[in-house]
This record gives sequence, C-alpha cells and structure tokens, in this order.
Amino acid sequence: MNQSEQIRCVGKVYLVGAGPGDPGLLTLKGKTLLEYADVVVYDALVSPQILETINPKAERIDAGKRRGRHSLKQEETTRILIEKARTHAAVVRLKGGDPFVFGRGGEEMEDLIAAGVPVEVVPGVTAGIAAPAYAGIPLTHRHYSSSVTFVTGHEAAGKYRPEVNWSAIAHGSETIVIYMGIHNLPYITRELQKAGLSPETPIALIRWGTRIEQEELIGTIGSIVRQVEETGFEAPAIAAIGSVVKLHEIFGNSRPVVFA
Ligand code: SAH
Repeated sequence: MNQSEQIRCVGKVYLVGAGPGDPGLLTLKGKTLLEYADVVVYDALVSPQILETINPKAERIDAGKRRGRHSLKQEETTRILIEKARTHAAVVRLKGGDPFVFGRGGEEMEDLIAAGVPVEVVPGVTAGIAAPAYAGIPLTHRHYSSSVTFVTGHEAAGKYRPEVNWSAIAHGSETIVIYMGIHNLPYITRELQKAGLSPETPIALIRWGTRIEQEELIGTIGSIVRQVEETGFEAPAIAAIGSVVKLHEIFGNSRPVVFA
C-alpha cells in the first residue's frame, strides 16, 4: 500500500474485547463504542445479548469462526477492516473475551498498522479468568496457588509458536488454565502426568462460562477424559487445573447472576 492510499483512511478500528458472554462483563468503553459504531465486525464467540447493544444503524459483519463451520479467512477479515476504515469513522472489531489473549488481535493490529489504519485496543474480560470465577474457582489463593499459566491446547501447525512444552507447563505454575483444550484433552492430560503431575490433580472444565447455559465438569486429570466421553461434554470450554479447583465445592454454590 502506498502513501496516498494510507492518507485516504478516515476512520479508526477499535479492537474491542466483548468479554466471555455475560453482557454485564462488557466494559463501559466497549459498550460505548458499540453504541456509536458505524461498522461492527464480530466473531462467533460474542454472545447474542452483546450483539443487541450494537448501534441499530451500524453495518454488522459476521466473521465468526467455529470449528468446522464456515467463517471468513483472517486475510479477508483484515481486508474488510481496512476497507471500512477508509469510509467510516468508527469501525469496531469485536472479539470474544480479550482481543490479545488467544484472539489473534495482535495479528490484526499488525496488519492494520502496516496498512496505515489507526487502531486501538480495548481489553476485555478473558474467559480464562471469568469462566473459572463463575464456577467458583479463584485462580490464585493464599493457601492453594500463587501462580497461574494461560496456555492454548490447540496447537494447529503454525498457529501458536513455539509449540507448547507441557512438561514445562506442568512444573511452571500451580494453576494451569487451558484455552481450546477440549479436543486435545487426552494428549494434554497424558503429557501432564508424564511430566509428574498426579492423576489425582483436580481439573474443571467450564463450557459457555458466564452465560446462562454455563456447564461444568469436575474431575481429576486421570479421570476427565473418560468423563468427557461419558457425558459428551463439548467445546467451547476452559480447563482449569490445580488444587484451587477444590474450592468449587465451597464457592460453586454462590453463582453470579448473569445479566440476561
Ligand atoms: N480471546 C478469547 C479466547 C479466544 S480462544 C478470550 O480472551 O477469552 C477461544 C477459546 O476460548 C475457546 O475454545 C474456549 O476455550 C475459550 N472460551 C471463550 N469463551 C468462553 C466461554 N464463554 N466459556 C468457556 N470457554 C470460553
């Protein structure tokens, strides 16, 4: 793209985190931007109630990608954002959770900057923190854990580099939070046990965290794969591993109210 094309850009792209689902967890900044947006390009994991807050006059573009379902290619999404920013003042790129946590927000920001499009990020509440919280699992706790790791369980070639070193993850912190880990759970739990974690280590899977339809499956890293098979538990879910999961028994009954 040459200099004159860059100057033609009139608008700005806001990379906005929608949070994990409960509309009450959308930031004020995110909500205001949605109310004033001219164009909103959103992902599959953004909850329907949040889409309802979009300016009714705004153009909406579904860039949703879910496993196995049709979605816009990354380059296509970026191309649309660049094109819309040339003709509209406020373009919102709305992503589930936080845009910079396994959301490809960093890649989109790079491409937009390279194209000369003004861009800023609006952080969101990430599912890795909110879903365990709504299930009554604090990721750190003075008596249980003083460290936490966020890791992707989906290591499609070239997607996240370097490849995840599960042995290092097993020993790196007391709580482990895995995004996109359900399909790979047999491999992950095996690797963690090979690295020395006890099969009795507690694990919680939280599906559709913070939404009305939130579901949990609680077990151990030795038992969870069988439980997933038996119950048909499915993605999208967060896995939380470590002794903090035991607190679910005490805190799990104090359910936050979802803003429906
Ligand atoms: N940027 C997002 C994560 C995108 S990766 C964030 O910060 O939350 C997509 C993965 O996030 C899903 O496969 C799932 O593991 C997790 N995820 C997103 N929303 C979720 C929710 N409401 N409940 C449970 N897991 C969720």
